[in-house]
Amino acid sequence: MLCFDSVALRHADGTQALDGVSLDVPAGQFCVVLGASGAGKSTLLRTVNGLARPTAGAVRVQGTPVAPRNLARLRPRIGMIHQQFNLVARATVAQNVLCGALPAMPLWRVLPGLFTEAARRKACALIEAVGLGEEHLLRRVGELSGGQQQRVGIARAFMLDPPLVLADEPVASLDPQTSHDVLDLLRRQARERGATVLCSLHQLDLAREFADRIVALRRGRVVFDGAPQAFGQDAFEAVYGRSAETPAQAASPAGRRPLPIAAPMPPSALPAGLLELAP
Ligand code: ADP
Repeated sequence: MLCFDSVALRHADGTQALDGVSLDVPAGQFCVVLGASGAGKSTLLRTVNGLARPTAGAVRVQGTPVAPRNLARLRPRIGMIHQQFNLVARATVAQNVLCGALPAMPLWRVLPGLFTEAARRKACALIEAVGLGEEHLLRRVGELSGGQQQRVGIARAFMLDPPLVLADEPVASLDPQTSHDVLDLLRRQARERGATVLCSLHQLDLAREFADRIVALRRGRVVFDGAPQAFGQDAFEAVYGRSAETPAQAASPAGRRPLPIAAPMPPSALPAGLLELAP
């Protein structure tokens, strides 16, 4: 379904965002890309829809190389879910979901917003499927909670029944319970529709709970690729560069919170000048 072949991406300033990533993601898999901030997760996802261009290697979707000449053909096959939802706040829930059909519409229909009857029906069905009742159809998205907005984002992503869905930190701005509900919804929708999902996350506990497979990145390289049950202490150290001080908490569904990035600094570690500024 999705193939990364020795993909590297070096930015103009010399930052090596991806460094020789090779992966095959089979159809129907819920593959989580795990890593700390800056590991290269977003960049990896962006190479799939052409928003980032590898400086070496190739990405293929269903055998088609991701290249400018193929993007118009590929985009209707790739649904996208964003961390900040990327919805039009002043438009209604229904209008936002209908926007998911735009990549497959001719320009003469896009400009005046001429959605077909089939598209309208599909949008209504999806809005119901993501748990938003009919009363939400004509609500402005800006009035919804974050969790409800991401439900709209999920409905939009499935408008064209894409075989592949990219979800870039889809729950990073949601509270722990809502994060859980939204990932559960995404996984269920993907399974029902037979879609493959490539989902970036920084929370190990959520990755363990929802992934069929975890691919972990550090500094643009794959440092773990396997089943969630196989993600142990070694993998943790490879991904985060330190041992898991509280692995039980990180893995516990009850403790659904981002991994601590830095431990609090003891006063002895602070520069003397800073301590003098303290009240
Ligand atoms: P993640 O999604 O895991 O947080 P990113 O893929 O956003 O990581 O970034 C990977 C690396 O590439 C980081 O070091 C980031 O600072 C760097 N980076 C991202 N975009 C640019 C850019 N436009 N120019 C230079 N470096 C960039």
